[in-house]
Amino acid sequence: MLLETHGLTANYGQFRALFGVDIAVAEGECIAIIGANGAGKSTLMRSITGVIRNEPGMVLHRGTPIGALSSAEIMKRGIAMVPEGRRLFPSLTVEENLLIGGQARQVPGPWSLESIYGLFPILRERRKNSGTALSGGQQQMVAIGRALMSNPELLLCDEISLGLAPVVIRDIYAVLPRIREGGAAIVVVEQDIGKALAVADRVYCMMEGRVTLVAKPADVTREAIHAAYFGEA
Ligand code: ATP
Repeated sequence: MLLETHGLTANYGQFRALFGVDIAVAEGECIAIIGANGAGKSTLMRSITGVIRNEPGMVLHRGTPIGALSSAEIMKRGIAMVPEGRRLFPSLTVEENLLIGGQARQVPGPWSLESIYGLFPILRERRKNSGTALSGGQQQMVAIGRALMSNPELLLCDEISLGLAPVVIRDIYAVLPRIREGGAAIVVVEQDIGKALAVADRVYCMMEGRVTLVAKPADVTREAIHAAYFGEA
């Protein structure tokens, strides 16, 4: 497995946010993690990327425990994150934001400034603009491009559609197959159930810090998802 969590727990002080979460991502796979506000989706992403440390054996990359590593070390192993809220560097241009993404991990792969401008042509036009001069959708493209610049094996996308217009969301989701063709596995964290089912090979639903459903989109009913998402039948 490319990435596994086993009985993953996470706390904020006294408050426990994750209660034994098991997920697995195979090479090249796309999984979606859905759930309502506060379900623990972002906490799961933070635990995988080393923002929140965890106990040995709870997070494995290619079978090796990575829970004690720093975020920088985890990124060097090929796990890149598109954070919720995009978090661009506001004083830097689009191009500088992209270049920063490639600095932490320099390995050969499909992604470079050129191929990212091929994926998002508008970013080439805007390359000298500061990140904050862009629309929300364009900022999201920079955040995705910045993560791709490290040529990750696994791309974690935390609520990439949040606050964007439907047409922009469609454009952003349209590039995910091209990212997979480049060889990366993808985890999308998503509140929009329809988007998640459309893009993922497998969907995990979370509620109150636990996984309540794992299914292939073709095998699952709306009722089952509704129950797992909201906790009611
Ligand atoms: P959202 O869609 O709102 O981002 P989520 O599913 O990503 O929701 P998390 O952000 O992981 O959920 O939050 C899980 C739980 O942990 C919630 O109860 C939340 O209030 C709590 N929590 C999140 N961040 C912190 C923090 N920094 N300090 C304390 N509690 C937190």
